[in-house]
Order: sequence, then structure tokens, then C-alpha cells
Amino acid sequence: MTPYYSAKEALQTLIRYLGDDPCREGLKETPDRILRSYEELFGGYRRDPASVFKTFDDGACDEMVILKNIEFSSMCEHHILPFFGEAHIAYIPDGRIVGLSKLARLLEIFARRLQVQERLTTQVTQALDNFLKPLGSACVIQAKHLCMSCLGVSKKNAVMITSSLTGVFRQAEVRSEFFHLIRTKD
Ligand code: ZN
Repeated sequence: MTPYYSAKEALQTLIRYLGDDPCREGLKETPDRILRSYEELFGGYRRDPASVFKTFDDGACDEMVILKNIEFSSMCEHHILPFFGEAHIAYIPDGRIVGLSKLARLLEIFARRLQVQERLTTQVTQALDNFLKPLGSACVIQAKHLCMSCLGVSKKNAVMITSSLTGVFRQAEVRSEFFHLIRTKD
């Protein structure tokens, strides 16, 4: 049995487990639709973060580079339910810089996997540190989790905020400049 077919069969089993009939009109295409959507939602497993850093621009810049308000969505690994919000990514170069769009692409590669928000946040700074060797890097993510809004305590407006700061971003001055800049209205 191909992996696709066993996944499809598992989804049919799941629908049966929920108490419905996977063969009825409205549901018979559902396993295929879910698997097609998963190709996009979990496409990050097939992409290597190293690919983002293939080209470096040599810049004389040694100032803070920030890309903020990056919209994203990911899937929580505890419930396989979406969490979504905005990320802010920054680094201070030490000779090497990458295009700003690459920062968004890097986030996307990690977000399109089963995740917890804390790990997603540190994976971004770790990748920046590994590939760019900057003076420091930072990532702040604020997100709403459907598992929080829909299950149990039902806190619809709860926003989870996580941050990861490395190198010079741990210094009070750099840290407060960063947080000031991401709070400033565009
Ligand atoms: Zn969850």
C-alpha cells in the first residue's frame, strides 16, 4: 500500500470513528482534500532552511535589520489545529546579509511543520545564527491558537507571545531598541 493510500484509509477510519459515514456524498472526497491541504500545510518538511541562505549579499551594514508583522500560520503538534499570528525577525549582521524576503521564507519553512510556538521561535534564531553568523538575532511571535479558542477553557482572545534573543540582543540597549521598533506603528 502506498503511503498516500494508507493515509487516506486512516482518514476514512477516523471519520468512521467520529460516528459518520466516509462514503456519503459530502464526505467521500474529504480524505483526498485533507491530504492535498496537508501538502501545503506541511510542505516545510520537504524544504531545507539552508536553501534560504544560498546567496549572501556582502553589505557594509552593521545596523539592526528587522522584518516585522510577518503573517504566518502553523499547526500545533498537540492537537493538529492551526495557530496563527505575526512574527518579527531581526539580526545585526557581521558581514553577511540576506534579502528581507528570505527571513519570511525561513519562518515559513519551519511554520509548515507540526510545531509548538516556542520551538518555532528558537528555530528561526538558530538558523540565522548558523547560516549568517550575525552579532545576534531575535524572533518574537504572537499567535492565537485554535486549541485555546475552541477547546476546554475557550479563551478566544488569548494571544501567546514567545521570544528568542541571541548574542547582542541579550544586551539591555539592543533588546530595548528591538522591542521599541517592533512596537512602533508602521
Ligand atoms: Zn494545541
